[in-house]
Amino acid sequence: MADKRDYYEVLGLSRSATDDDIKKAYRKLAKKYHPDANPGDTEAEAKFKEASEAYAVLSDADKRRQYDQFGHSAFEGGAGGAGGFDFNNMDMGDIFGDIFGDLFGGGRTRRSSNGPMKGPNVRTGVRITFQEAVSGVEKELELNLKEDCGTCHGTGAKPGTSTETCRKCGGKGQVVYTQQSLFGMVRNVQTCPDCNGTGKVIKDKCSDCYGTGYVNRKKKIQVSIPAGIDNGQSIRIRDKGEPGVNGGERGDLLVEVSVSRHPIFQRQEYDVYSTAPISFAEAALGGDVKISTVDGDVLYTVKPGTQTDTKVRLRGKGIPTLRNKQVRGDHYVTLVVQVPTKLSSEQKELLQKFDDSMNNRSDSESAEPEKEKKKKFFGK
Ligand SMILES: [Zn+2]
Ligand SMILES: [Zn+2]
Repeated sequence: MADKRDYYEVLGLSRSATDDDIKKAYRKLAKKYHPDANPGDTEAEAKFKEASEAYAVLSDADKRRQYDQFGHSAFEGGAGGAGGFDFNNMDMGDIFGDIFGDLFGGGRTRRSSNGPMKGPNVRTGVRITFQEAVSGVEKELELNLKEDCGTCHGTGAKPGTSTETCRKCGGKGQVVYTQQSLFGMVRNVQTCPDCNGTGKVIKDKCSDCYGTGYVNRKKKIQVSIPAGIDNGQSIRIRDKGEPGVNGGERGDLLVEVSVSRHPIFQRQEYDVYSTAPISFAEAALGGDVKISTVDGDVLYTVKPGTQTDTKVRLRGKGIPTLRNKQVRGDHYVTLVVQVPTKLSSEQKELLQKFDDSMNNRSDSESAEPEKEKKKKFFGK
């Protein structure tokens, strides 16, 4: 600590400086050496720290008195009896609030403007069949993903050259535009257009990546599509988006799933809807009919005298839910009685006989036969 500069010397003041002098001197130095104004400049950072430490001590009446008496040893563990003074644990926020006011737009929160930023998300799509959505499926996507350029290791600068602090924004990555509006001056903070918010510009660009620091590589990415996924839903794959800025993590890959229509099944939430044809005889007599489900064909026992448009629920034969594959929706089937066409003369004869027998039965059962009813109707 022998080479540590005198606090008064650091601030360019005499020992008789007033509190106001100290404040003014520090304000001037801090503005000049503030890390926001000198990103990556370690010398400026050291000067800023040195000045801040001097100010922290000299602006505090107690500490200043101890320093005047004992010098630096006043704050070095034990010596001088002051109990040590740890600059690193000091709350800089107090100093900034005190000294700067709104000089740096409120101080500490702004400082992350050129800090690590997560990269943008990348969106892509994949098409799967209805049945794949029911059972879940693994898909391999081939995508162009940005990778760090091997030649410049992601810096974008020609090997052997380095990046420079952006002049437009002074390395802050943001520029403030002040505009006159009806309501007075309006401050607009925008990402610096020269450095795209990185705070650095490249003078000699890497020829392999044209200064971007990235090269596009075809990458194969496995996507696990869970059973139950619906049309338009997306799957998020972490860290497969664009690279982050200033060491930030990569963005995510969002894969939107398009589910092809099925020729007979329609989906609503986790339920499946379909229609199933049954013959006139099956409807009348009852019996087992084959119904297509997402699990394949099942036999369903139709009650005698089933009418067309009868709705049947097949419990648990719908789509598996995303949360739990074992929990499934239902399958609603509308039974549609088929009226036979292209009948042979023999079949026609049989049907006629059948119809006659029905009419006879109607005659005996009903007081007013069918034909009479019609007559009455048309007679009106
Ligand atoms: Zn490169
Ligand atoms: Zn810039």
